[in-house]
Amino acid sequence: MTCPYCNYLMEEGIIQSSQEISWKKGIRRPIFGRAGFYDDSLVLSKLSLIKGSAVKAYLCRKCMKVIIDCADEKSDLNQC
Ligand SMILES: [Zn+2]
Repeated sequence: MTCPYCNYLMEEGIIQSSQEISWKKGIRRPIFGRAGFYDDSLVLSKLSLIKGSAVKAYLCRKCMKVIIDCADEKSDLNQC
């Protein structure tokens, strides 16, 4: 994948956590607040008590952007 900002080749990797990985709109929220409690939130990887959570992500080392393709169902590694 090439970076949409600078066209540099991006590296495939993962972001993983021992908590649910989610995007929440607006300001910082309590760390243990699940996305389901907030309007307009998006769960990137549901929590598995065995595996934690993990999502595929691409890093551009040139402009230091990280991209997660939320439309790709395979980006949530707990769905695989
Ligand atoms: Zn870039």
